[in-house]
Amino acid sequence: MTQNTPDLPFNISDHHVWRPYTQMKTTPAALKVKSAQGVHIELEDGRRLIDGVSSWWTVCHGYRHPHIMQAVKAQMDRVPHVMLGGLTHAPAQTLAQRLAALAPGDLNHVFFCESGSVSVEIAMKIAMQSWINRGERGHTKFVCFKGGYHGDTLATMSVCDPEEGMHSLFAGGLQQQLVTALPRDESAREAFESLISKRRAEIAGIITEPLVQGAGGMKFHTPATLAYLRDVCDRFGLPLILDEIMTGFGRLGTMFACEKAGVVPDIMTVSKALTGGTLPLAAAIASSRLFADFWSDDAGAALMHGPTYMGNPAACAAANASIDLFEQEPRLEQVAAIEAVFAKRLPEARDFPGIVDVRWQGAIGVLEFPALPELEALKARFVDAGVWVRPFGNIIYLMPPYVITADELDTLITATLNVTRGWAEEYFL
Ligand code: PMP
Repeated sequence: MTQNTPDLPFNISDHHVWRPYTQMKTTPAALKVKSAQGVHIELEDGRRLIDGVSSWWTVCHGYRHPHIMQAVKAQMDRVPHVMLGGLTHAPAQTLAQRLAALAPGDLNHVFFCESGSVSVEIAMKIAMQSWINRGERGHTKFVCFKGGYHGDTLATMSVCDPEEGMHSLFAGGLQQQLVTALPRDESAREAFESLISKRRAEIAGIITEPLVQGAGGMKFHTPATLAYLRDVCDRFGLPLILDEIMTGFGRLGTMFACEKAGVVPDIMTVSKALTGGTLPLAAAIASSRLFADFWSDDAGAALMHGPTYMGNPAACAAANASIDLFEQEPRLEQVAAIEAVFAKRLPEARDFPGIVDVRWQGAIGVLEFPALPELEALKARFVDAGVWVRPFGNIIYLMPPYVITADELDTLITATLNVTRGWAEEYFL
């Protein structure tokens, strides 16, 4: 039905697309994209923007890398999609094998799905059911952290920071988890361990994003904090779930962030840059020890999950081609080069009025303010300056595609600093 209804206060045909994180009444119109190439997004009106955020942190090789395009087209000609129930195909098998080889330790078993949130749900389900399959009932809660973000579905919302997960808005509708502060120092560790030992019989696992809490505000923690969480999990016999959806595939300079701390989780979730930002795909990768908990003659001990499009062949072909590029092109060196440029250029922002913190790690650069007044106007200024930068909460951040050239990165940073300085002088001087 596309006819307008007089009792509705909006024009139906203007709003068939319900946009993400958007108050549809007050939002400015979305910018219409005509095409994208390399680090550039081209708009219908002819403007070209440098993508400073890699399309929600996905397009690590830039848009339309020919190697990925060719692999996807070839796969489309063979079989674009086939169900993974009872059937299998080379792209999924090869990809699972390559992910198992890339992931640290005994993370060998890859459960595919189509979105990051669902991969986290699957990781939570694996953790919970592994207890049940071992005959230990009652392990139904997750320890998760303030500042954390793991997705927008109801179960993942429950393990987000209470504000990000809107725990109060959805009160009663979300599973109550054990949300606590990341144990960054000695005193926090004491409180943390006392929580774990008191509630151990209820805990299914501990979940965190390794080293950088992304959508919760690009907050960093140290490899020592992550190693400590691994140690606690080992001492209390709990599985550690690391959500590498943002940090995985090189964003921090190593293939996975957990490598920087020498930590091997029991389950790792990946998505976003998995396909180089080409097609939707995600996975929960479990250790052989957890997989063994499901290995049984009892059909009831199976993992009862199976998203329709899981292991989509075209998406797996894109992911295989993306991993080829990590092998054939110097992606991690490019991330190190971006990090070095951030280290040189971003400290200038420490003199901007009102700024709270300037930090960077790998190919993530962050400018933190007490708040971002007039956020929509600020976003529009970035567009006017020729860059696609999407501040949120109280931060302005850059996460460019790894293939960005030195000149393009210079243009991106200069535009970002200029707009931010002007805006900070207006609001914080
Ligand atoms: N976990 C992390 C760390 C994320 O950054 C995101 C997405 N921003 C998700 C989970 C959810 O992924 P998706 O949006 O694909 O459901």
